[in-house]
Amino acid sequence: MLKVTNTLTGKKEQFTPLIPGKVLMYVCGVTPYAPAHIGHGRCYVSFDVVYRFLKFLGYDVRYCRNFTDIDDKLINKAEKEFGDRQRYKELADTYIRSFHDDMRVLDCQSPDFEPCVTDNIPAIIEFIKGLIAQGNAYQSGGDVYFSVRSFDHYAELSKHNLDDLCAGARVDVRESKRDPLDFALWKSEPTGTFWKSPWGYGRPGWHIECSALAAKYLGDQIDIHGGGLDLVFPHHENERAQSEALHKKTFARYWLHNGLLNLDKEKMSKSIGNVLTLDALFQQYDPMVLRFYFLNHHYRSPMDFSLDDMPGIQKSYNRLCHAFQSVPMQKITFADAEHISVLARMCQVMEEDFNTAAAIGIVFEHLNEIKNDPKAAGAVKSFLHNVFGLSLVPIAEKGVEITPEIQKLLDAREQARRDKNWKRADELRDQLKELGHDVQDKKI
Ligand SMILES: [Zn+2]
Repeated sequence: MLKVTNTLTGKKEQFTPLIPGKVLMYVCGVTPYAPAHIGHGRCYVSFDVVYRFLKFLGYDVRYCRNFTDIDDKLINKAEKEFGDRQRYKELADTYIRSFHDDMRVLDCQSPDFEPCVTDNIPAIIEFIKGLIAQGNAYQSGGDVYFSVRSFDHYAELSKHNLDDLCAGARVDVRESKRDPLDFALWKSEPTGTFWKSPWGYGRPGWHIECSALAAKYLGDQIDIHGGGLDLVFPHHENERAQSEALHKKTFARYWLHNGLLNLDKEKMSKSIGNVLTLDALFQQYDPMVLRFYFLNHHYRSPMDFSLDDMPGIQKSYNRLCHAFQSVPMQKITFADAEHISVLARMCQVMEEDFNTAAAIGIVFEHLNEIKNDPKAAGAVKSFLHNVFGLSLVPIAEKGVEITPEIQKLLDAREQARRDKNWKRADELRDQLKELGHDVQDKKI
């Protein structure tokens, strides 16, 4: 009896998919214009465990996660780096590759569908045409806007008040909306580039892609819609409005949001330079330690990430690895779980809105007992491996001690690589080597 907390109702509800035995899940993906950071890591590890646990429960799951490979940030960066905004796709492809590298080492399973926006423009245009035909959207110049007040259930997800939203809405002078609340579905491109549409050349607004892609790859109605809590408004609110206005059906039955991650007690933000990329972290720590750190928190809770916690987390993870080191893996199904009391208890807490932290707590609590019961040990190991995605390979203690001096060198080297100052980066690597630290690089 799986229960999930639904952001729409604010309640923990019994999970009943639309089609028995089948789950359709959509999670908003990244805009690939910069390396993924630990906040992205948390989101996609969280939903990876949701995906794995649903499959463990016996569901046939279809998981779709998009790439926003056309966007202002990408276009601006292409302009800056190449002097050519049309080269945004080269940048996107680079960061899609590095995102895939990050996901692979974090042992996140690939979604069943990973569509790029730029490969699906016709589906997006059709979606917008449908909204216009029904009176939920209108053309203004070469732009198309969604008419928020045409959809009666707007702001139900984010619990905003329409008048407050209206008072706070910013209206760009270039925009010609009928109502400040309206948002762009199609943005015109006066230079005649990007894509041809019934409204002239242009490109899609941000929100429409997820409505169109979810419909194309999963259907008009889905079971789970996931993403970070920061996406509830406006992104998910707008997705819901678009999809429900067009299809006149409930779009997502359950809205699941992972809590945000603070870095050293502060919001991670590029603008204030408070960002830790996955790649930078993996130069110091095994990705499995980060995965384990995430799973020690409930996915909905906010999480205070601190590098200072990493040695302790690594130690605790190693304790788990050592306990199961010589245990042979045992193939298990959900039906077997009820005959193994520790695993049954782990499944019970997992069925309470995917409480990974409680499940890990149960393992540690029963570690001695498990050691003396080969059957339970094999089953728990298999669960940790297959559902939690933990490799359970002990991590060499070497490299655990990152002194402030080493940290300084690592930071300086990371900056040099970012600046593409390869000579300086090599010098710093040699210095680190002299101090006994071998640095392994991944592509930036
Ligand atoms: Zn989305």
